Parts: sequence; C-alpha cells; structure tokens
Amino acid sequence: MRASKPLYRIIIVGGGTAGWMTAAALTRFLPVDRFRISLIESEQIGTVGVGEATIPHIRQFNALLGIDENDFIRTTKATYKLGIQFTGWGTESSSYMHPFSTVGCDINGLDFHHFWLKAREAGDVADLDEFSPATVAAHAGRFDYPVENVDIPYGYAFHLDAGRYARSLRDYAEARGANRVEGKVNQVQLDPESGYIESLHLESGQTLAADLFIDCSGFRALLMGEALGVGYDDWSHWLPCDRAVAVPSERQTMPASFTRAAAQSIGWQWRIPLQHRTGNGQVYANAYMTDEQALSALLENLEGEPLAEPNFLRFTAGRRQKSWEKNCIAIGLSSGFLEPLESTSIYLIQVAIMKLLEYFPDRSFAACDAREFNHEMAVEYLRVRDFLILHYKLNQRTDSDFWRDCQAMSIPDELERKIRLFKEAGRLEHYEQGLFIAPSWMTVYLGQGLIPDRYDARLTGYSSAPIQTYLERMRRGIAADVESMPTHSEAIQRALVSRPSRYPVPGFSFYGRVR
Ligand code: FAD
Repeated sequence: MRASKPLYRIIIVGGGTAGWMTAAALTRFLPVDRFRISLIESEQIGTVGVGEATIPHIRQFNALLGIDENDFIRTTKATYKLGIQFTGWGTESSSYMHPFSTVGCDINGLDFHHFWLKAREAGDVADLDEFSPATVAAHAGRFDYPVENVDIPYGYAFHLDAGRYARSLRDYAEARGANRVEGKVNQVQLDPESGYIESLHLESGQTLAADLFIDCSGFRALLMGEALGVGYDDWSHWLPCDRAVAVPSERQTMPASFTRAAAQSIGWQWRIPLQHRTGNGQVYANAYMTDEQALSALLENLEGEPLAEPNFLRFTAGRRQKSWEKNCIAIGLSSGFLEPLESTSIYLIQVAIMKLLEYFPDRSFAACDAREFNHEMAVEYLRVRDFLILHYKLNQRTDSDFWRDCQAMSIPDELERKIRLFKEAGRLEHYEQGLFIAPSWMTVYLGQGLIPDRYDARLTGYSSAPIQTYLERMRRGIAADVESMPTHSEAIQRALVSRPSRYPVPGFSFYGRVR
C-alpha cells in the first residue's frame, strides 16, 4: 500500500460565492502548516453577482466556520427566510408556500396529508398553509426562533447580499492564511502523460503550480470543462428557462420573511427582500421571450425604484458529467446550474465542500474517492433537478405556449413514478440522501392542484368529525403561537443589536440532511 502524503498546494480558481466559501472552509479545517491555499480571481471578469436566497443548511455552514449568526446578519444585510411563496404555478390565481417546515404532523406513523384529505372530503377543512407554523408566520410578517421538541418543527434560512457574504468569507480565509492572487488565468498546463493539471499561467506572466486544483471559475468551467474536457449533461428539454435578468430595487415595505417566486405568462420572477434593498429577477426561456420583453415584464413589477442597470445572464440547465476528474474538483457554477426556483445553488456548493473534506485526496488521488464524490454529487443534482421539473410539469396555466409545452413535456421516469404514486395512492417517497424531504413534495403536489385519488386505507373506517376537530385544534394552536411572535422587522432589529446569537444550530436540518 502506498504511504499517503499530505497535499501541499491547493489552488482555487475563482472568487465568487463558490470560491470564497471553499477557501474559508479549507482554511478552517486543513492545518495551515501542511497546506498552502491560494485563490486566483479576476476583477476584470467579475462574478455573476446574484444568488441571494438560501435554504436552512447555510446556518450549519456558518456554524462550522464559527461565524456568529448575528454577525452574519449584520455583515450581509440579511433577513430571515421561512420559505418560498409560489404564486401562479398551479392555475394563474393559485398561491402556496413551500415552508422550511413540516406541514401538520404525522399521526401514528401516517402522513398528515391523509388526514387533511379525509377532512377535505367531508367538506370543511382549513387551507393546507394553515398547518405550517413557518407559513403562518411568513404570511403574518412575523418571525421567531423555532422551539425545540415540538410536534410541527420549522427551520429558517436567510436572504443575503451575496457580494457582502463573499467579501466576509474572503476576510475570514485570508486571516487564516489563504493567499489571494489577482489575475486572469489564460493557460492551463497539463502533464502530458497523466493528463493531470500541473500549473496555471496568468496574463501577468506568472505561473502557479499546485497538487490539487479547485475550479470555481463559474459558468466557463475553465479547468473542468475547457482544460480537462469533462462534458456537460444538458437538461434544458426539462428546464427550458435559459436566461435571467436581475435588477435590485429600493425597499418599499417591511421586508417579507419569505422569497417570492411568481409565475408570469413566460417564466417567473423572484423577489428577495434584504435589509437595504430588494433583489428582483425574471427567469425566462429565450425561445418564448426576448430580452427586451423580459426586462419590461420585470420593471413593471418592481416595488421601488431600480438601483442598478439590469444584469442579463445566460445559462443552460444541467450538470457537468463529473465534479471530480484527475486532480481537479469543480464547485459552484462550473459543476452545473439549476435555476434558482428553490434557492439550491449555494446549498450545492456547501454539499460539494463538505464532501470534498470528507473524501479529501492525498497525492495518490485514489479512484474510489473521486468515484464516491461524483456519485454523491450526482444524486444531489438529480434530486434537485426532478423537484424543479415537478413545478413546471404540474402547472395548470393556459396563458401561453410556454406553460402548455411544459405540461405536455415528457419527464424523467423516476419523477413520473413519484407523481403517479402520489396521484393514485397519496403516497410520498421518503429518502435519506439529498433534498427534498417528503413534506416538500407534498406541498408542491397539493399546492399545484395534484389531489390524490384516495387517502390511506387505514382512515376509511374513521368518521371525519374527530379528525376535523383535531385539525381545527392544531390550526388554532399554530395561529396562537404565531400571534405571540415578534414581527420580522423586530426580529432583525433584535439580531442587529445583540451578540452573540443565542439560537443553537441543529446537527442536521429536518429539511434535508447534509452528510
Ligand atoms: P461566479 O460568481 O461566476 O464566480 C466565478 C469566479 O471565477 C469569478 O471570481 C471570476 O473572476 C473567476 N474567473 C473566471 N474566469 C477566470 C479566469 N480566466 N481567471 C481568473 N479568474 C477567473 N443561488 C442560490 O443559492 N440562491 C439564489 O437565489 C440564486 N439565484 C441565482 C439567480 C441567477 C439568475 C443565477 C444565474 C444564479 C443564481 N444562484 C443562486 C446561483 C449563485 O449565483 C451561484 O451558485 C453562486 O454565485 C456561485 O457562483 P460561482 O462562484 O460558481 O461563479
């Protein structure tokens, strides 16, 4: 067996969210006397400059780095996020929340929605949204830290200023020894025999060699795509949106504690409330909508005055066929892109970093590490992909060819099977690895109007009345709890003036596990 030697030099190419999250985590976990970590970025190229809505896992990432949550809220001008509101994704007038919480609670091992369906059949039951404390709080403009050990737990995430987050992680990483190099990589030198990356040449004439290279160069995938030639699986036949235009605007009202994803006649618009501004964007498919139409649709719906010129972005939904090849690992946009409908990109960066640390290679670059890493990242991407396709497939809109084509498209077999399972028998699949947990699927199915043909057979013998009474008691309990919460603005203010944060970060999130 070959003795394992430590890596000496790691080069990260790219200083966007992916690059600096990676640099910060590596400087936190790798001993500084054995690893030299450099990050090359080019101000001339810049970053994508978007990516401001997160899911609860980011709290674990910050906690692992020892970043105090209230400091984070101050630095990144963050607001709390309890979920995502989807308007117009079923019928044009429909609306539902995908909360960071379970909806109702299981009873004797039976999923909550069976009870809700039974009560609904009898004709008198509250909207599903009312059985989620996160949703009720979000609608009421309230926020408080979750209470432990309750029947219906919830979690929370943040809306953050991505530029400020990357800058604060840069300070963090540089303070722990990361070496930032300003410059543009214009050539990648490969070992002629092994094909491994040997060194990078910069426009300045400098050459930098390393043992491990991390490609955080964004959509261009300078190392993984261009230099190593790893192909890209194009999923745009399932996720047809290929462009976005983003414009920040003045904040007009109290910031909401949820992200808004509003379906439009073509594509959809996001609204992300921060402390100091609102992030807005229109995601669209260029085959159905021009850039000018997209921009005017977006500007029509801005709440406040625009604060910057529109930022147009192009992308292809999909994933690089491998995230780890030879001595190179792709993290962030260089490893794939799934539109921000469920705010999953920063999560995918976080997962890749955690798995890199778990399978961290020595100089022999054992094939089994790369294989496991690639397999686990593939599972993560596929899970998110199918969940996003679900939103498009289940739409019931009649106002454009875009939505009608999405209804008619064929979808991955695995997703088809899941949808049938729910439609025919009201069953949800519970899986261990990756996003999303069963209540998330249930929320989207029912929120977009997919009502199962039947509920669980074990409920057929029960009369509806006690179930209705039970649900009504649950609904009133949630409403009362929310009533006593501070407003979202008060909660932010509380975080801004107190230090350190007093709310513990759970070991894992019930919203989906980061392993
Ligand atoms: P980039 O930000 O593009 O950074 C690339 C870096 O590589 C830059 O520093 C650049 O200078 C450097 N670079 C490139 N080429 C060279 C070179 N030749 N030499 C030197 N340096 C080079 N994610 C979420 O989690 N939530 C969201 O709400 C969300 N919304 C999004 C909306 C849109 C429209 C898009 C497109 C993405 C969104 N994302 C979102 C994704 C998120 O923006 C990205 O995952 C995140 O910003 C990470 O980007 P990155 O660091 O991989 O790439």
